[in-house]
Amino acid sequence: MRLVLLGPPGAGKGTQADRLVERHGIVKLSTGDMLRAAIAGGTELGRKAQPIMDRGDLVPDALVIGIIGDRLAEPDARRGFVLDGFPRTVAQAEGLAELLESRGLALDAVIEIEVDESALLDRIQTRARESAVARSDDDPEVAKRRFAVYREQTAPVSGHYRAKGMLKTVDGMQSIEEVSAAIERALLVPTGAPNRPRNG
Ligand code: ADP
Repeated sequence: MRLVLLGPPGAGKGTQADRLVERHGIVKLSTGDMLRAAIAGGTELGRKAQPIMDRGDLVPDALVIGIIGDRLAEPDARRGFVLDGFPRTVAQAEGLAELLESRGLALDAVIEIEVDESALLDRIQTRARESAVARSDDDPEVAKRRFAVYREQTAPVSGHYRAKGMLKTVDGMQSIEEVSAAIERALLVPTGAPNRPRNG
């Protein structure tokens, strides 16, 4: 199974991705985690990404497409994966399509977790308070910037997949269990063919 999870910062993508990993024996590919690991490891990628992430902006498309391409080539990704935090721009979605096509693979579904934006800043602030390891981008000002970036650059990714008949949406304003159950139900519904006209 090859999936993409979409949704604004704080929508619960990471939590739901972890549950999909457990239930379906696939791997989670989170560009946010990979970039934080690069920063912690002091790599060149990390040095480039850190100031951008600290502002709440997006790392250049070519960099993240490159790390996803490398990661998809690893053997554990063959059994399937859930992408968390990627693609975040339409250009990244196009880059992903090329990467998959070149390997003869396709996505099974794109799942968007829909949430009420006003609730999200609260969630992020709670995460900032409760987290053992402080994330500099959970700072309230940076969180606001991340929402603006989401609206401008990432929200169009949903429309991109909707036009291809690949998007499934679930209501994210429910308990973790309920959101998980909604995702499982959505996965049972076959993905529509590209731009398939409605009957009647
Ligand atoms: P969250 O899960 O809280 O929405 P992430 O951990 O996915 O956040 O991402 C943290 C930061 O890492 C982003 O604000 C951005 O700077 C950078 N980042 C992560 N994924 C991408 C991506 N696909 N493209 C560009 N930047 C990214």
